[in-house]
Amino acid sequence: MRDSFLIFGSPKIEEDEIQEVADCLRSGWISTGPRVGKFQDMFRQFIGSKHALALNSCTAGLHLSMLAAGLGPGDEVLTTPMTFAATANAIIHAGAKPVFVDIELPSMNIDPQLIEEKITPKTKAVIPVHLCGRPCSMDLIMETAARYGLTVIEDAAHAVEAEYKGRKIGTIGDITVFSFYVTKNLVTGEGGMITTDNDEYAEKVETYGLHGMSRGAWKRYSDDGFKHYQVVFPGFKYNMMDIQAAMGIHQLRKIKKYHKRREEIWNRYDAAFKNMPVQIPPPGEQNTKHARHLYTLLLKLRDIRVGRDRIQQALHEENIGTGIHFISLHLHPYYREAYAYKKDAFPNALYVSDRTISLPLSARLTDEDVQDVINAVTLVLDRFSR
Ligand SMILES: *Cc1c(COP(=O)(O)O)cnc(C)c1O
Repeated sequence: MRDSFLIFGSPKIEEDEIQEVADCLRSGWISTGPRVGKFQDMFRQFIGSKHALALNSCTAGLHLSMLAAGLGPGDEVLTTPMTFAATANAIIHAGAKPVFVDIELPSMNIDPQLIEEKITPKTKAVIPVHLCGRPCSMDLIMETAARYGLTVIEDAAHAVEAEYKGRKIGTIGDITVFSFYVTKNLVTGEGGMITTDNDEYAEKVETYGLHGMSRGAWKRYSDDGFKHYQVVFPGFKYNMMDIQAAMGIHQLRKIKKYHKRREEIWNRYDAAFKNMPVQIPPPGEQNTKHARHLYTLLLKLRDIRVGRDRIQQALHEENIGTGIHFISLHLHPYYREAYAYKKDAFPNALYVSDRTISLPLSARLTDEDVQDVINAVTLVLDRFSR
């Protein structure tokens, strides 16, 4: 057994980030400033979108996207229940109602075939989530959305490097939101980014994200002289700091290298687990690029004597940290009670909730770490197999 605990989702941080953060601190400009401007420019070029706007989280970005798209009380927004709470909470924060659509298997993404039957006259938007970094079936989603006049807001928290039919995720829907939380593929501690080609959305996101102060208000103390600002909306405090962007600038430069490393780990896991009582992630769909964010096994419970939680605990005892992505939102008390969801309302999401377990996949992992994970999973599955 390994002698130290392997933390799930621990980020790779190197000297270049550390140096840039130190330089930022020494510069005296630590909140939103030149480094945020640079990070936004780099991200915009990386994605190929017209706008890229940095924020202090993806959750903030999802909230502002709802407001920019004009969603509010009385509106319904379709999304997957197989996601993090942020996706549904942002809809609720805007005053709208989340309406879940079951996932498809094996992709675990929102089932595009089921979207249409959930559309009512109140439906205004759909939020596909590219779970684990696997792009959703965007053609069908965009086509259905266009037919019903729905805004498409993509939750790309897992999908910064993902591509769909030659297009980067971040250039397809009306607005796309990325996360730079510590466990994600690109890390700024806390942080997020919105990409859009829509000038009106971009301007609203920028204004609403900083107290509703008119454009460029963060520059008001810069050396081109003090500028008065005007409040045009009761906005929020969602701006990214330069300390965060200092990390992001270097993380973005290394994004290909880190993706390649996670792909190597992914392939080692695939080879190691393919004959065990687990379902390994399905191969990527043709003509797409998987962002390799989460390596998620589905336990074959018929071949195992215990439930997923016991397997997770046993791995913990072997000093291997794992994650659960996710317990379907309709099973959580708030959504279950607020929207009167039955347990079997989303059979595929329920199926995944009981079986899913994510293994460490950070670019930080050494070959020995990866072998430790493989050994521990092998040992634990052997112990509990029928
Ligand atoms: C992490 C995550 C978010 C929220 O990101 P933050 O930057 O922590 O706000 C949203 N959606 C999904 C699917 C996530 O995994």
